[in-house]
Amino acid sequence: MAIADNIKTIKNSIPEHVTLVAVSKTKPNSDILEAYECGHKIFGENKVQDLTRKYEELPKDIEWHFIGHLQSNKIKYIAPFVSLIHGVDSQKLLIAINKAGIKNNRKIKCLLQVHIAQESTKFGFSEDELIQMLNEDSIATLNNIEICGVMGMATNTPDTAAISKEFAGLKEIFTKLKEKYFSKHENFKHISMGMSGDYTIAIEQGSTMIRVGSSIFGQRNYH
Ligand SMILES: *Cc1c(COP(=O)(O)O)cnc(C)c1O
Repeated sequence: MAIADNIKTIKNSIPEHVTLVAVSKTKPNSDILEAYECGHKIFGENKVQDLTRKYEELPKDIEWHFIGHLQSNKIKYIAPFVSLIHGVDSQKLLIAINKAGIKNNRKIKCLLQVHIAQESTKFGFSEDELIQMLNEDSIATLNNIEICGVMGMATNTPDTAAISKEFAGLKEIFTKLKEKYFSKHENFKHISMGMSGDYTIAIEQGSTMIRVGSSIFGQRNYH
């Protein structure tokens, strides 16, 4: 029951407009089903192979989010069913996702990943790169993707003021992009930020979608 209890506790503690993505990476189907049976339907995975397998094995009304670093040659495996791709970090990838969308006759929802952390290992666009890309007319011709907002990961640090500042920066970028490029796009509405350690701060700074793994399913064991 621990998983169901954790989900209930988190859901009760966050505002209604914030979507909880339960990050089930490395966890067995039985854990996902425990969450599913208490009514939770949105899960996040960061490996294409695991996501595809879990999609095949688990109930079809689950909404699967891809939250990892996506390689162009693997898009085809998740394109038929994925609900939202959080970490789109290049124009090349966006174009490749659009192609997969055409093949599958659907519009694939994406979030643009923005690099807000101090660590150089975290992926994402800079603000300048985003503006440069969105200024290109060719972006508007990508009819089989829908850009639904932004995603970011804060620096892994105990310095909550620093984390707060990074999230505030992402919110600011979201607002600028919304005004300048997406004012008529009602689905450009998501700011995916906040994980187990920092989702409370993220919500204070305007998160609309949190990605929580270990606080729901416990520590991950990669071995
Ligand atoms: C693993 C992961 C999470 C969840 O991390 P927790 O700290 O376990 O909540 C969130 N977002 C991304 C991109 C991840 O890879």
